[in-house]
Amino acid sequence: MQINAWLRPPRHLVVLFLGITLVLMMALGWLGGRLLQQDRALERQRLQDRLELAADRAAAAFTRRLAAIEDSLSRLSTTVGSELPKAAARYASQLTGDALLVILTADGLESFPKGRLIYRPVTSPTEEPPAGVFARGEALEFRERDYQRAGRLFRSLSQSDDPTVRAGGLLRLARVYRKAGRLDAALAVYTDLAELGDTPVGELPAELVARFARVTVLQELSRVDELQLEAESLYADLYAGRWRITRPGFRFHTEEVGRYVGSDIVHDSGNSMSVHNAVALAEAVDLLWTDWRSGQPDNRNGDRRIVWVGDDPFLLIRIGSSHSAAGIIAGAGQLDNWLTHVELTQATDGVALAIADVRGKTIISRFSDRPEVRVTRAAAETGLPLTLQVASASLDADFAQLAERRRLMLLGMSIVALLVLVSLYAVTRGVTRELEAARLKSDFVAAVSHEFRTPLTSMRQLTELLATGRVASDERRAHYYSVISRESERLHRLVEGLLDFGRMEAGALEFHLEDLEVGALVRDVVDEFQQEVGERGYEIVLNGGGEGGGGGGDGADTYTIRADDEALKRALWNLLDNAVKYSPDCKTVWIDQTPENDCIVIRVRDRGVGIAPGDQKAVFHKFFRGRGRQVDAVKGTGIGLSMVRHIVEAHGGEVQVESEPGAGSTFTVRLPLVSG
Ligand code: ADP
Repeated sequence: MQINAWLRPPRHLVVLFLGITLVLMMALGWLGGRLLQQDRALERQRLQDRLELAADRAAAAFTRRLAAIEDSLSRLSTTVGSELPKAAARYASQLTGDALLVILTADGLESFPKGRLIYRPVTSPTEEPPAGVFARGEALEFRERDYQRAGRLFRSLSQSDDPTVRAGGLLRLARVYRKAGRLDAALAVYTDLAELGDTPVGELPAELVARFARVTVLQELSRVDELQLEAESLYADLYAGRWRITRPGFRFHTEEVGRYVGSDIVHDSGNSMSVHNAVALAEAVDLLWTDWRSGQPDNRNGDRRIVWVGDDPFLLIRIGSSHSAAGIIAGAGQLDNWLTHVELTQATDGVALAIADVRGKTIISRFSDRPEVRVTRAAAETGLPLTLQVASASLDADFAQLAERRRLMLLGMSIVALLVLVSLYAVTRGVTRELEAARLKSDFVAAVSHEFRTPLTSMRQLTELLATGRVASDERRAHYYSVISRESERLHRLVEGLLDFGRMEAGALEFHLEDLEVGALVRDVVDEFQQEVGERGYEIVLNGGGEGGGGGGDGADTYTIRADDEALKRALWNLLDNAVKYSPDCKTVWIDQTPENDCIVIRVRDRGVGIAPGDQKAVFHKFFRGRGRQVDAVKGTGIGLSMVRHIVEAHGGEVQVESEPGAGSTFTVRLPLVSG
């Protein structure tokens, strides 16, 4: 019920407006959201298209790159004679540190650049010394244990022209010395043997055998410093790929020698490649070799595939026949190098590439983070041995325009929302004011009617009495006449007041200003008012204003102001009237006048009901009437104080109120004095 009452016109307009606004704003928000969504989808599509194009280009570039490599390999695989090592070395010089070029033949495997392969799948068949050449010496050594004669025999063989016989002779001579306990002599022989370099002794290069033997002899001799030095140099040379040995030979020697080598050297042999990478590369070569030997998958068409050695990826490319083939083992560094080449030769601006193996395991990724949008070219699609992935290099840059548009749209929507809210506020305020004005006006009409009714009623009754001649006593009649006269006076004042208010509202209230003595003016009003209210027991106490020696001055103190006599009197009358009206219990009202600077200050004080602090400003507004039981009991129209303010201000003065509910009110009027 209360809601219904509140919703009466014109408030329903506010609710309607609010509803429409809400619906509008929701529609606007929804539309904006949809628009942004579509915009984003469009932008994604555009990005997708761009990435597709870049992926195709990158795949094509990779294909070309591999084709060029295979071309070179194919040429190398058919090159013969002394040209091959030169051509191969030239080609291999372009490779990065973790890549190797290999030439595969029935004789074994050649790798380029030299020294990068620390061990190999096979070694070439070695020349053997003529059978039985050492038989006599060994019989003396092992069966007869005649080391002297055996040594002599082996020394003579170590002078042979055949390097394999020489190497075999030296090796045995040193062995005989060791057995005879001549360790220093054995060391010297090993030094000679080492000089024979790659000459094979029992499948291994003479130098390796000799240097390893020296290490063991030095260990027996406990020559620690020399042992350390020689072991380290041997270890480094093993990792520098100095000898053509197989995995077991490499493992055996590195493990044995590694025991005498400092741990820092074990982990980094001092080569450009780390131990780990060198081993991985050798293992990858082993895989390529196995592939070739087993004819996987078809030697004529070549083969290319990604293999993993532990965590290290290698791309194996092989081309040629089962008799002779060429291959490349490319580690991550080499792949990275090719990827950079692909990026440089393609217009791949703003995109980042990544490569993975056929199963999708990442090999190299240039993505800055996990990209939302990426395009993949699987190995099956491109014929490449790897999966290619393309993503935007910077999503922020791609979506920068989108973000800008979104910002603008949000700004626009916020402005619209703000405008709507402002207009909603304005409408609500307007309607509320309208309602308030309507209420005030109807209150005013009721109040005015009420004001009129009382004097009219009493006048009508008295005139009726008089007219019918029912009042016998002259005294009584005289009293009735005076009441009628007072009531008509009151009506007159009421009508004048209303007319003045009307003129004031219309801006047509005129003031006839003249020099007036303020004390006399106040006294006149007070006298007249005292007569009016005296009967009801009220007393008006006037202080100051040259009241013949009393209060604040004597006859000499006269103050002149420029004022409209009638208007100012009406204003003071209104103040006194209010003081009496709103002071039902205390029947005394005070009016003081004191000069202050260039002004005369007139205060009207009462000890009445007072005014609530929140109402003290509003009492000067037209039609405003105070609330509360005590005030409601008093008749009034709510225009008195607005008239007072208007009149006082027209005189260049001001009016203020100080009040405390229950303790009374003081209305202060300040008017400028006529100077001089
Ligand atoms: P009215 O007296 O006809 O209601 P006014 O404009 O003279 O209209 O006064 C406005 C309101 O100010 C009053 O309704 C009353 O609430 C308050 N008011 C004015 N004078 C006094 C006073 N002396 N003491 C208490 N309240 C007052």
